[in-house]
Amino acid sequence: MKTLRPWWLVLALAVSVTAVGCVVNPATGERQVRVISTAEEIAIGEQAAPKFEAEFGGRVPVPALQRYIRQVGGSVGRVSERQEVPRQYALLASMVPNAFALPGGKVYITAGLMLQLTNERQLAAVLGHETGHVAAAHNVMALQRQMGAALLAELAAAAVGGKGAEGAKLATRLATALANLHYSREDEYEADQLGIRYMTRAGYNPWGMVELLKRLLAMSRSEPGRVGEMFQTHPITSKRIRRAEGTIRRRYRQFSPDRPDPHAGRFVEMRVLLERYLKRRS
Ligand SMILES: [Zn+2]
Repeated sequence: MKTLRPWWLVLALAVSVTAVGCVVNPATGERQVRVISTAEEIAIGEQAAPKFEAEFGGRVPVPALQRYIRQVGGSVGRVSERQEVPRQYALLASMVPNAFALPGGKVYITAGLMLQLTNERQLAAVLGHETGHVAAAHNVMALQRQMGAALLAELAAAAVGGKGAEGAKLATRLATALANLHYSREDEYEADQLGIRYMTRAGYNPWGMVELLKRLLAMSRSEPGRVGEMFQTHPITSKRIRRAEGTIRRRYRQFSPDRPDPHAGRFVEMRVLLERYLKRRS
């Protein structure tokens, strides 16, 4: 049965459901002009995810490992802004170190990056940083910049109902665009700050972020080829490290960089599981 709603209620619903246009981002407090709604953002992520995951080796088929990534990811995801976007965390089998956040909240870390980490707070830093990109809608804004607003709006509308051959074409197009997303330097600083915020809210020592950045920067100097791709999507510079350090010293003085991570043992067990799986596979 159809009931008629007063026009103002229809309008209010439309605005709250779609939130297209100029919105104040709750994570950063900045105004953003977004051409797609949250529902479309989620549809884009859903549409692109299977192709995207396949491109990076597919999900590592070890349930204990996926559970662990979901658990650490969930702890930073739960305390982030924009809860209307569902958060999902998964480990992909690619040996190229990288991490990604699709529009709509799908966050990935590759096996190659997990093998570079030594404790859980560094993992929380990776997943916290990516969660920051979701909360700040950096990925939506980057897609909008790179594709152009008109094309993105068109693809987003198609993604909502996209199925069949047209859907498959669209999925490939979106997955390719998302794999080549470029964040600005400001986006990177912001995602680090947000990552630090979520880590501390979830009970992690935020110095894990500095450990992570230092490790990756050192790696980029010793083996530039290995982290090349990651540096395209998330450039790491010594200024980024200094900024993260400055934030922690100013706002989170109660934490010490020298205190060991209490969950390092748990992390290393998981890394061993991953190493075993990779050995079996090869
Ligand atoms: Zn980033």
